[in-house]
Amino acid sequence: MQHVLVTGGAGYIGSHACKALAAAGFVPVTFDNLVTGWQDAVKFGPFEQGDLLDRARLDDVFAQYQPVAVMHFAALSQVGESMAEPGLYWRNNVQGSLTLIEAAVAAGCMQFVFSSTCATYGDQDNVVLDETSEQHPINAYGASKRAIEDILRDFEAAHGLRHVIFRYFNVAGADPEGEVGEFHQPETHLVPLMLDAIEGKRDALTIYGTDYDTPDGTCIRDYVHVCDLVDAHVLGLKWLADGKASRVFNLGTGSGFSVREVLDHSREVTNKPVPHVEGSRRAGDCTKLVSGSQRAVDELGWQPHRSTLRQMITDAWRWHQNGHYDR
Ligand code: UDP
Repeated sequence: MQHVLVTGGAGYIGSHACKALAAAGFVPVTFDNLVTGWQDAVKFGPFEQGDLLDRARLDDVFAQYQPVAVMHFAALSQVGESMAEPGLYWRNNVQGSLTLIEAAVAAGCMQFVFSSTCATYGDQDNVVLDETSEQHPINAYGASKRAIEDILRDFEAAHGLRHVIFRYFNVAGADPEGEVGEFHQPETHLVPLMLDAIEGKRDALTIYGTDYDTPDGTCIRDYVHVCDLVDAHVLGLKWLADGKASRVFNLGTGSGFSVREVLDHSREVTNKPVPHVEGSRRAGDCTKLVSGSQRAVDELGWQPHRSTLRQMITDAWRWHQNGHYDR
């Protein structure tokens, strides 16, 4: 069986990717430093603890498993934190990815699937963002991801490292079978924070900004189900295995929802009120991020099945009430 090296495989999206890879007949090898990931989430293949900045450790893992491809999820991913601590993002995300990419090339592993983000586009109001849109990130998280995209292009030109870059919009939901789900400590993302507030596990949710130039004054995001998202990654591997050229794909649905609309859906799904207060804007937040995602549908044959907001919150709620990890 073919091995795929999954960095960040102990995290939210990486653990779902491991499940999808195993279902598709691959052996997912998780490489994770467990700073934000959970060993309990590694259920579908071997686990190798290590840090992306540790080149010798990476070389050992490449030599041991000889993976056919890398899926690179490991990253720091909080917009607010990236504004306060940009050095963390440049070191972990950019220097860590560069070390990984160099190790992959040295090992002859020349297929690379990369988690990028809609945050690379920045604030472009009233525009549907497709893969040809300009990239003007307004936070250090988005800037770090754009830099890694540039590194991949240079390594393809110099060394032939073929890659698929996925620019995610807002990922939500959980494995409907409940084997893995979203669990961050500390949590910063809207959907799990909302569900915590509903359950009384934390204080009221703060809406970050009600004075944006949107119909209800709150930020608009395009939410995509984590299971649909990782399905696209398996299609991305096939794309590379078929010898196709490096390509960028957005992963979103093309539908935007405001923070208030997400609250309304959550109340309907859970039948419980969402305790919330209105607060000031969070540094680095874009007003509106909505995807043009036709390319993934047309070229990869991607068919998102679970990415209605209702389904995502239903799956997240089911996981949320029972699921958590210990380190
Ligand atoms: N948000 C919010 N309160 C929170 C967390 C998030 O109002 O406690 C808003 C945030 O401003 C953004 C949206 O919810 O407009 C999604 O934020 P999240 O952190 O989940 O993802 P991001 O868009 O930063 O990747």
